[in-house]
Amino acid sequence: MERGDLPVRRAPLEVDAEEFRRLGHATVDAIADFLDSLPGRRVAPGESADEVRAALGGGGLPERGMAPDELLAESARLLLDHSLFNGHPRFFGYITSSAAPIGALGDLLAAAVNPNVGAWPLSPLASELEAQTVRWIAELLGYPPSCGGVLVSGGNMANFIGFLAARRARAPWDVRADGIAAAEGATLRAYVSAETHTWIEKAADLFGHGTETIRWIEVDSGQRLRVDALRERIAADRAAGDLPFLVVGTAGSVSTGAIDPLDELATVCREEGLWFHVDGAYGAPAAALPDAPPDLKALAVADSVAVDPHKWLYAALEAGCILVREPRALLDTFTYRPPYYRLAEGEDAPVNFVDYGPQNSRGFRALKVWLGLRQVGREGYVRMISDDIALARDLHALAAADGELEAWTQSLSITTFRYVPPGLEPGSPEAEAYLNELNREILDRLDQGGDVYLSNAVVDGTYLLRACIVNFRTGPADVRALATAVTRAGAEVDRELGAAGFTR
Ligand SMILES: *Cc1c(COP(=O)(O)O)cnc(C)c1O
Repeated sequence: MERGDLPVRRAPLEVDAEEFRRLGHATVDAIADFLDSLPGRRVAPGESADEVRAALGGGGLPERGMAPDELLAESARLLLDHSLFNGHPRFFGYITSSAAPIGALGDLLAAAVNPNVGAWPLSPLASELEAQTVRWIAELLGYPPSCGGVLVSGGNMANFIGFLAARRARAPWDVRADGIAAAEGATLRAYVSAETHTWIEKAADLFGHGTETIRWIEVDSGQRLRVDALRERIAADRAAGDLPFLVVGTAGSVSTGAIDPLDELATVCREEGLWFHVDGAYGAPAAALPDAPPDLKALAVADSVAVDPHKWLYAALEAGCILVREPRALLDTFTYRPPYYRLAEGEDAPVNFVDYGPQNSRGFRALKVWLGLRQVGREGYVRMISDDIALARDLHALAAADGELEAWTQSLSITTFRYVPPGLEPGSPEAEAYLNELNREILDRLDQGGDVYLSNAVVDGTYLLRACIVNFRTGPADVRALATAVTRAGAEVDRELGAAGFTR
């Protein structure tokens, strides 16, 4: 580049190539050591917020900078010593997966090139790669790859987009221009099962409907939405002058992994002219399995499907995805053309992701997802997801065979169970109250202890321990260790509660 006698600018944040190489190699070495050491580490640090804050150090905004090599080494040390590791083989909590290592390198590459994936002209390759990622995800799930879709931060955002697309398509007026107040007394109604994730409350709240407009439909003994109850509710609401617009089916509920009868829900929606959205944030990738249940495969006929690559596609946080059968429905929901956008429109125009969701500037989160799919293909994902499910079933069988454990639910890769001390007969209100207290305390103790990490579910008032395996590092020995850890902690807590005067 020509610069004559003009001075070279040297900005404080600039790092030259040689220094970057050195810093990068040191950081990658630290990450490689971390991955290698993972199984031997505590799953969770078991520290209080005060302890973690003290490790970080108080201090206000620094006035002066510091050397980047020291700084990176210090941040690696802080993170490695005071984090919960959801990539640990004995992490069984919530629905948070081990992240594929290739994605960590992908994020580094994505941040280095830093394309703005809101607009095609700002991110030619990245936009095309994201469009391909969306198609590949659709293909994996058995959803039409001609769909529209976009990557977002997670399941909540993906479901929000499904909600907004449904409202735009089914509200009988221009809801984008006139808002929902234009309903003039009629209420737009969304129908969901009582087990639906709390995103629906945030959506109804944030988008001005109000949480009271949600119709929570009861579930059957398998935690699945009852279609007869849904039909009755829709009929009653129509008779009262309400405006049903959306039915949500869950493909893998957050508590027990239950799959709603998606095919029957699709029929109801077709007959009633409603938008059918599937929340497959967790369970949708299991539709890729050759032996997937027909209820799950029926997500193929939904108007929209939310799926979380940062759950069962093992992408690093954050990565959610919404798929919408008719790409037009997304464009109709989100497109604006202010004078400062210089973007092409029309059938042949390249994809501008700003038109597919609420974000304007967008990062390149697609790369890490694409890399995972490209690294192992459909075959690799089918194997990992099947193995997770097989391990969760093994855990259920272990619990069923263990005199001190009571196996409860098993669906997809979620197993619920509880500890029941020898000599205690469950069933009476006193015994059940005691068991709830006992298992709550067992969970706290285990998660604090650092050997394993799991979470809980409450099913029909029963407090259960819940293991969810979306973790390609978990193996049979880890599942066995979990069962052993629960019985050991159970006996210990039972003794202590007894000594503290708790009555069974
Ligand atoms: C996890 C989950 C969500 C929320 O997804 P986030 O990625 O945490 O925003 C919604 N629905 C279901 C069924 C989930 O499992």
